[in-house]
Amino acid sequence: MTKIIAEMIEEGIVIETGLEDSQGGRPRTTLNIDPEYGYFIGVDVGETHVYVELFDIKLRTLRDIRYALTSNEILPEEIARLIIDAVRTIQHDARIPDEKIIGIGVGVPGVVEREGGVSIFAPNWGWHNVGLLDLLRDALRIPILLDNGAQAMALAEMWFGAGRGCNNMVVLLIGTGIGSGVIAEGKLYRGTSNSAGEWGHTCIELDGRACRCGSHGCIEAYAGAPGIIAQIQERDPNNPILQAGSQVETVRALNTAAQNGDPLALAVLSRVSHTLGAGIANLINLFNPELIVIGGWAGKLLSDTILPGVESSVRRYALSQPLSVVKLKVSELGWDGVSLGAANLALHVFLMGDDPIMVTQ
Ligand SMILES: [Zn+2]
Repeated sequence: MTKIIAEMIEEGIVIETGLEDSQGGRPRTTLNIDPEYGYFIGVDVGETHVYVELFDIKLRTLRDIRYALTSNEILPEEIARLIIDAVRTIQHDARIPDEKIIGIGVGVPGVVEREGGVSIFAPNWGWHNVGLLDLLRDALRIPILLDNGAQAMALAEMWFGAGRGCNNMVVLLIGTGIGSGVIAEGKLYRGTSNSAGEWGHTCIELDGRACRCGSHGCIEAYAGAPGIIAQIQERDPNNPILQAGSQVETVRALNTAAQNGDPLALAVLSRVSHTLGAGIANLINLFNPELIVIGGWAGKLLSDTILPGVESSVRRYALSQPLSVVKLKVSELGWDGVSLGAANLALHVFLMGDDPIMVTQ
């Protein structure tokens, strides 16, 4: 028995569940993780929702709560209040006290800088140097880890999703905003100040449409949900698709219209496919990945409709050598890729004692 398993038995994480006949040899002890040893909470702070999920130690979902965000001006105090409220509600309903929650992982949009205390830079919300972690720590007496949502999701795809066994890949989060997580040599590539992977803000159209980040012509300005909706408005401001309601409902209505052959919907999604395909070709040329995963709520919702167009644009713009070794897949995780990834990060940090992305070899 290895030292680490012995330690886990001592800690109560792993329990001996009996003896197993090993075909003539000495009977082997069978081990299992005690699912009630402790729990994790994963939080996805998206631009349209706050989604909070309770996991057991095997990262199986036990409960979840989703709050829709409606206001365009999202204050850190408001986000903190929603997270705290959801965590307390879940704990109350599942009857799990603070000491049984091993850790909370929170995935947020924007750049999470971890040097000198954790601060978040999310220009989309007007967040500059926001200390969300302090707001949460004041109310929740549970260890908390904060990270960028797309980066957390990339790790979840590598461990549980379409990227199992993949050492070089890029995971795309396509929703209201667009981000990505780059896995290089089996590790998340974070860059100097943890902002690597801001693929949504790479320029696809010189002097193009103004982007929320302050630049112009970014991929997000055309293929993030507000950018897609703006393209419907530009073509036909009175189009009924625009009456669908929320961003998610509007993108869903657009997808349905395209599947029914609506010319405007097809034209808009053809443009979106072309933009994403060219952007993905840039990633292929830059990183030579074996896999690109399309995720995020808009990416998943539109995938069936846009995939052929995306693939043909990728073929048009990518170099043939890296193109010949790359696969394009749609995320296998549910819409909870970010919360699962954040909970998984918390598991690694608080249980295994290491941070799979901060540890340098
Ligand atoms: Zn931008």
